[in-house]
Amino acid sequence: MLNIILLGPPGAGKGTQAARLQAERGMIQLSTGDMLREAVAAGTPVGLKAKAIMERGELVSDAIVSALIGERLDAAADQGAIFDGFPRTKAQAEALDLLLTERGRRLDHVIELVVDEDELVKRIVGRFSCARCGTGYHDTFRPTKVAGVCDVCGSTEFKRRKDDNEATVRTRMAEYRAKTQPILPFYEARGLVRRVDGMAAIETVAAEIDAILDGTV
Ligand code: ADP
Ligand code: ADP
Ligand code: ZN
Repeated sequence: MLNIILLGPPGAGKGTQAARLQAERGMIQLSTGDMLREAVAAGTPVGLKAKAIMERGELVSDAIVSALIGERLDAAADQGAIFDGFPRTKAQAEALDLLLTERGRRLDHVIELVVDEDELVKRIVGRFSCARCGTGYHDTFRPTKVAGVCDVCGSTEFKRRKDDNEATVRTRMAEYRAKTQPILPFYEARGLVRRVDGMAAIETVAAEIDAILDGTV
């Protein structure tokens, strides 16, 4: 049962790869971004706290996101986990260690998706998803096969994230550089970090991640 972290700036391809791994390997995708968006949509106390912070592109508190991850891990005791967008700070990385140890799990890999910042803006402003099943797409890089129809569920309704605009993306990238990138040495010291070229095509990135998970590289 593997436990892996996908690390990379907004638009690096974490969600795309995590959703694929969940579908193909029976692992569970644990995306704090998705959990927070659900909380905002449902108007829960966590959602009410997170809404404005997310719209500015800043980070939600470590305590909130760590608690969300703990709840989801408890509900998926027999599944490998893909941490997508968590941890994002040193405090979250430490919280994750504790959450895993308490549950008899351990981290197998931290996969860093290495990308070029200028390309990220293009990825993010072109990102959209199916309003019914959540499948992720891109206007240019991953369009639906039939225009306006979801490949997976046939829905014709799509949505775009409110925070996927150029100004917010710049704040999110600055947050990544200031708070998230500095956790890499924490994992490097434990020999866990594997780098993957996130600029490659989606299928190529997928094959590289698969090779790491299968232990063939
Ligand atoms: P992206 O995949 O584009 O990086 P996410 O969906 O992971 O974006 O996150 C969207 C927003 O949710 C972030 O900008 C931040 O406000 C909040 N968020 C998500 N995960 C975390 C986290 N682990 N810690 C703090 N804030 C988070
Ligand atoms: P993250 O979760 O890291 O923020 P996403 O997986 O949502 O990133 O990807 C951001 C956008 O870029 C999506 O529209 C997705 O379809 C597209 N995308 C993901 N991976 C690639 C890739 N390797 N090449 C081109 N576009 C990609
Ligand atoms: Zn769909």
